Formats: sequence, C-alpha cells, structure tokens
Amino acid sequence: MTLEQTGRTAYGSRIARAERLSSPTSAATEFLEFYKHVASFQKLLHANVAAEHEVKPSGTPRAGLREELDFTVLLPHLRGYLSVIEQHAPPALAESARQMGLLSSDSWIASLEAYWQHAGRYDQQVGAFAQFLARAFLQPYAEFRAALMSRAPVVGTTRLCPLCASRPLLGVLRTEGDGGKRYLLCSFCIQEWEFRRIFCPTCGEEAEDKLPVYIAEETPQVRVEACDTCKFYLRTIDLTKDGHAVPLVDDLAAIPLTLWAHEQGYSRLQPNLLGT
Ligand SMILES: [Zn+2]
Ligand SMILES: [Zn+2]
Repeated sequence: MTLEQTGRTAYGSRIARAERLSSPTSAATEFLEFYKHVASFQKLLHANVAAEHEVKPSGTPRAGLREELDFTVLLPHLRGYLSVIEQHAPPALAESARQMGLLSSDSWIASLEAYWQHAGRYDQQVGAFAQFLARAFLQPYAEFRAALMSRAPVVGTTRLCPLCASRPLLGVLRTEGDGGKRYLLCSFCIQEWEFRRIFCPTCGEEAEDKLPVYIAEETPQVRVEACDTCKFYLRTIDLTKDGHAVPLVDDLAAIPLTLWAHEQGYSRLQPNLLGT
C-alpha cells in the first residue's frame, strides 16, 4: 500500500467509527459529529501532502520529525480548513477559527510553527482547546512525516514517543498470544510503540496494587488505567474486547469516563483533540 492509500484507509475508518458511535443517547454525539467534519478535512489534506510528496520526494526528514514545515503544501489549505471549523465547531471554537481567518499569513505561520515545535512536549500549560486549530490541521502532516521515518527497535521502556519525543495520548491493547500486549499511541505523530503492561507511563510505578483499572459497563473496550502514586491516568482502548474499536475515536466518545476520572482526583497525562 502507498502512503496515500494507508492514510485514506486510516481516516476512512476513523470517520466510519465516529458514525457508528454517534447515537441520540450518547453524550459525545455532538463532538463526534464535529469530529467527522474534521477527519474528512484531514483525510483530504493527507492525500494532498502524499500527492505532493510523489511529485517532489523530500525523503526521510533528516532533522527528525519536527524538521521545518513545508508551507507551500500547507498554507493553500488553511483557509478552507478554518471555514470547516467555523461552520461545524462548537461556538467558542468556531469564533477562534473566524478570528484566525482574519490574520495575515505571517501570523498563521508563526502559530503553526509554535505548535509544531512544542506540541506533546511542553504544552501542558497551554490547554488543549487553545491548541485545537493548529493541532487538528497539522496532525495529518505529522502522521505522514512519521510514516516516512525509519524506526529503530525500541529498547527498554520508553515513556516518550521514540520518533518525536512526545507524551502518549492513549494506550492500546492488542491481542497477542493468550492475552493483550500494550502499546502507547503518540499524541503528536499518532504512531504506536510497545510498552510494558504493568507500568505507569507517567512516574514509572510498577506495583500492581498502586495501578487500579476502571472500566464502565457500557464501554468495556475503554479502560482508565490510573496510578495512585502520581494521580495521573492513561486511557487505554482494549482491542481484545472490541476489534472494531478505533483508538482515536473511541477515546473521543468516552466523555463520561473523563468526568469520572476527574471526580476521583486523577488527571490525564495528555488531553485529546477535543480537550477531554
Ligand atoms: Zn510521536
Ligand atoms: Zn504514576
């Protein structure tokens, strides 16, 4: 499969999953409906980035994943993107897309560059919602870049993404042998790496009795993997329970679990696209 086809399949299954999880009774339906528009735009941008690469191969990014952004590919899509957000986002976010549309292209470049350099590493203070515009726009570009990079085998337990040094967004359990093997999914470049099952990715706690797991009856494929030592939690999507789950999307739909974890005093290491 070419990178363009891989991207088309990945975005296609995210959109289909969002459709599947939307229902009149779900608290997340409004978000999922909005996400479908975002993912459709991302699918298109990914295809464009891939097509441009066919014409003008840039090779493996030498300076790593966060090498300079190619604005000749990106900027022509920004205005269209902002109008998608303006039309479909919740009011506050729609307004910030409208405001961004009024700025000069120099300001656009500055805000995209700031996100590109710091995302997933120093963004804890910024707030996820404030980051949304740059994050959703650049995600397909980061995914495409990541797919071009060669991977060295991961040695030991790496808490940050081996490709871009960002914090994990999610855990993913995949069937392997008799049980499930845990992977972490990067909050910036959306790639996965293997990770120990009983080990807190925030503080390194490995005592099983300090690492409680909570699962809600109605969403058995979504786990809250908490740590009583550092009080952070990792959201893990369990594909051994539901092979049709799509980690990025099942996570967005799990709003009630976010509220619950906060009530219990646990914080999330890295918020998702919608800041939950
Ligand atoms: Zn990464
Ligand atoms: Zn911990």
